[in-house]
Amino acid sequence: MEGKLTRRHFLGLAALQTAAALGLTRIGLTPAAAAQSADHTPALVIGSGYGAAVAALRLGEAGIRTLVIEMGRLWEAPDSGGTVFCSMTAPDQRSMWFKRRTEAPLSTFLWLDVINKDITPYPGVLDRVRHPNMSVYVGRGVGGGSLVNGGIAVTPPRAYFQEVLPGVDADAMYGTYFPRANRMLGTAPIPSDWFESTEWYQYARVARAQASAAGLKTVFVPSVYDFDYMRREAAGTATKSALAQEVIYGNNHGKRSLDKTYLAAALGTGNVTIHTLSRARAIRRAADGTYTVTVDRIDTTGAVTATDEISCRALFLGAGSLGTTELLLRARETGTLPGLNAEVGRGWGGNGNVMLGRANHVWNPTGAHQSTIPVTAIDDWSNAANPVFAEIAPLPAGTETWASLYLAITKNPERGTFTYDAAKDAAVLNWTAGQSAPAIAAAKALFDRVNAANVTIYRYDLFGDTRAFAADFCYHPLGGCVLGRATDAYGRVAGHPRLYVTDGSLIPGSIGVNPFVTITALAERTMARVLAEDDVGR
Ligand SMILES: Cc1cc2nc3c(=O)[nH]c(=O)nc-3n(C[C@H](O)[C@H](O)[C@H](O)COP(=O)(O)OP(=O)(O)OC[C@H]3O[C@@H](n4cnc5c(N)ncnc54)[C@H](O)[C@@H]3O)c2cc1C
Repeated sequence: MEGKLTRRHFLGLAALQTAAALGLTRIGLTPAAAAQSADHTPALVIGSGYGAAVAALRLGEAGIRTLVIEMGRLWEAPDSGGTVFCSMTAPDQRSMWFKRRTEAPLSTFLWLDVINKDITPYPGVLDRVRHPNMSVYVGRGVGGGSLVNGGIAVTPPRAYFQEVLPGVDADAMYGTYFPRANRMLGTAPIPSDWFESTEWYQYARVARAQASAAGLKTVFVPSVYDFDYMRREAAGTATKSALAQEVIYGNNHGKRSLDKTYLAAALGTGNVTIHTLSRARAIRRAADGTYTVTVDRIDTTGAVTATDEISCRALFLGAGSLGTTELLLRARETGTLPGLNAEVGRGWGGNGNVMLGRANHVWNPTGAHQSTIPVTAIDDWSNAANPVFAEIAPLPAGTETWASLYLAITKNPERGTFTYDAAKDAAVLNWTAGQSAPAIAAAKALFDRVNAANVTIYRYDLFGDTRAFAADFCYHPLGGCVLGRATDAYGRVAGHPRLYVTDGSLIPGSIGVNPFVTITALAERTMARVLAEDDVGR
């Protein structure tokens, strides 16, 4: 059953809530089954983001006992202050993954260091992984990126999808897997009457009018945020979340993150167990073809408290572009999976992400009240000379800023590669500042038009220095184990039976829109094929 909450969802949600209330790091439908030691499992899934969650649900539905390993914690129970997550304006230790100070994407306002705060190191929900010239933001916890993202759920234009992944049958994707992913994720558009009338989207209406003045088209982008709930937030009848400056450090209400959708349903099958605060470190293959994963269990200080060796018949990698690529690269370079091909570690891109702000005239305020959930974008992707899809983002400072903020997705052709650094035992991204230049040039070409038409300028005070464009961080890491190169056309790792990649590392660096719907749909396609053809269960 898809599209609505099923009995399975309710059972799974109850299991998540019970585990959270009891502070358990083993989550299953029956606590006894979840607590069992798992030195062997038929199927093992690493990570609990989009690709992993799809794998877990479809394996569980097929009756296959499945263990999910997630390095982050479960985000379900309120802390002593009464909330699960902290807000962007008052971040505490829950905000970031083992940092001493928050590292928000907008680091300053009017050049003032008023945004970031000192925090105690803790397994918080948002990580900023620093590579030379490129920081990558990722979610940590049961639900991966779905816990921290903006909920924008866009299906890419078919022509561009085919350009990026020509080996994938677009009829099957657009006829079956994109619709399935959208139904399961609970994707819906904002009701236009409310959008047009609420103060909370004034910033988006202002940006739309300014784009229009430059002859540019804007579109509504669907979302997994519950707009009925948001209306009640605005009416004062529900606790505010999107309307209370919550998003990148988690939403306490309103968002259909994966723990509410795929993962709840997966647990509800009774065949899926999730282990939290468990970080996969190494993968090897035995002579009988089974895989063994070395898993470090950590506590909330980050200390390793135990190390497990878990063997499985089928291994599904859903640790995200950075996580999956690092696991496979390490396995190849340290010789535990020496047969992995040279494509592992290649084809990485940040979806051409560029962030920028524009300064508006004083007579054109964007509003002190801004919903954190973006619902509109400038869509100039069909402009062959300079394709850009720019999400109209909020700047929810709680006060008038006269700023318009954007996350532009550009068609940057540059790709990075990862190398294994033995001293650090880590994958390091090779990315030069020059490789971000095409993305900045594309965003500038589009927004110069917007500024010219509205006689406005850029904001130079938002990124800690005097830059107008920030392309040294991204929200959309893609690639590293590209479909059809490091794997076959369905995510089967080349030369390694029953080893699969199901996450964003399959997409070669760019998809032209916010990526989680595509990642989910590709994982649905992989699981349908694998469960029909491969002998994964035992
Ligand atoms: C702030 C922010 C806003 C965003 N907004 C949007 C948006 O609005 N729309 C959109 O489409 N996309 C958005 N994205 C991007 C989107 O969230 C990602 O593309 C998506 O989550 C990637 O899915 P995935 O399955 O590849 O992996 P992820 O969702 O990244 O999940 C990987 C999981 O694996 C875990 N993991 C990693 N390594 C290991 C290991 N060794 N052992 C155990 N566990 C491990 C991680 O902790 C994580 O939970 C945003 C991202 C961020 C950071």
